Amino acid sequence: MTELELLADANERAQNYIAAVGKRRVFPDLNSLANLVAFDEPWSERGFKGADVLRLLDEKGSPATVASNDPRYFGFVIGAALPVAAAAERLMLAWDQCASSFDNSPVAATIERITGGWILQALNLPRDSAVGFGTSATACTIACIAAARRAILARRGWNFDEDGLIDAPEVRVVISESAHITVKKALRILGFGVKRVLVAPTDAQGRIDPLRLPPLEDRTILCLQAGEVNTGEFDPFVDLIGRAKLAGAWVHVDGAFGLWARASSRAHLTEGVDGADSWTTDGHKWLNTPYDGALAICRDAHALATAMNSDAVYSFTAQDAQKNLTLEFSRRARGIPIWAALRALGRQGLAEMVDRHCDLANHIADGLRAAGYEVLNRVVLNQVLVRASTDEETIAIRERAQASGETWFGPTVWQGRPAFRLSVSSWRTGEEHADMLVKLLASFLREGDSTNAESA
Ligand SMILES: *Cc1c(COP(=O)(O)O)cnc(C)c1O
Repeated sequence: MTELELLADANERAQNYIAAVGKRRVFPDLNSLANLVAFDEPWSERGFKGADVLRLLDEKGSPATVASNDPRYFGFVIGAALPVAAAAERLMLAWDQCASSFDNSPVAATIERITGGWILQALNLPRDSAVGFGTSATACTIACIAAARRAILARRGWNFDEDGLIDAPEVRVVISESAHITVKKALRILGFGVKRVLVAPTDAQGRIDPLRLPPLEDRTILCLQAGEVNTGEFDPFVDLIGRAKLAGAWVHVDGAFGLWARASSRAHLTEGVDGADSWTTDGHKWLNTPYDGALAICRDAHALATAMNSDAVYSFTAQDAQKNLTLEFSRRARGIPIWAALRALGRQGLAEMVDRHCDLANHIADGLRAAGYEVLNRVVLNQVLVRASTDEETIAIRERAQASGETWFGPTVWQGRPAFRLSVSSWRTGEEHADMLVKLLASFLREGDSTNAESA
């Protein structure tokens, strides 16, 4: 097969896969999982033809995929790739750009610079902020917190780049009791010991309670949250950021999915968040772009550009080159699928998608309440937190739903008890899929009732 024939083969297989979305099982069956053994072969001495490599991938790989690109998938906050974003990504792969700077890829540098501006408009954040396109919210949080620490130390006359951390003035961190695990991971990697991080207690919806906020100083990094993973709730930004500003602290916001509320009619939920110093958010969740695509946004563009600087004698570029704004040096042009999504949706299309997901989450919550479930959160956004009457029943129903192949969503623990978490974040999901989910879960509850009655 020639290169073009191989690409055509890949294209046909991809088209067949997409054509079956909505029809295949949402989680693969045991048979498909068992067939993954086909990949467990010794690494070949002489290699295989490209067509053969692709055939194995499709024949044994495709059936074992989790159909997160399916309207009936409600797990995590995964979203589904918008067709235009996935298609742009495919063209980008043909370009094979190393999007580190203008010299390496004028087209990537130009498009990503413009996309960064659109992101700031969509999220209504300070327009002079630096926007780095990173692999994930995790990586972007590392970049932003590194910039925060370096800036705080510089204010105290400490040269972090030259003198590092040994004997440096202490920088304190305050995080929410319900901070995402990846924020804790970022802090751990950066050398903020988990035991030293101060934890701000949260209320029943997972929001920091301002009255119980640990003391802030001008050497504090306060990490807030836009979109709690279980409840979808927001910290009270106006109050908390007001206090942080008075203290001279740096505020970082993890808005992996929730920051996109700013692009919708729910923007009021995030009031005051634009007063922070840095923000992270994902494209690959609610914007429905392919993995990996996330954003590190920093009000003080210089702070991010110096913390992430990777200029070398053979590669000296503009401060705002992407290799100076994120962890990566060589990188794919991950801003391009984000550009494609934003250009295709426009301001109205994006608002409509985010609003529709929030409306559907409410619709699901109403349906489940009517069916006899307990909805544990206020459903302000796209997340629904649910429990049946007993913990055993909650777990059994979730496992049954996962095994059905009709849908998929994940477990969580909320206030010490098992619950399950439904997230509406796919452009494909419509009212019919929400209704299907409610009907399925209602039937499980009824069948559970009759089993209990029989055994009583
Ligand atoms: C998913 C998520 C993260 C981590 O994002 P990645 O892109 O997977 O690294 C962080 N915070 C919140 C609230 C999330 O939902």
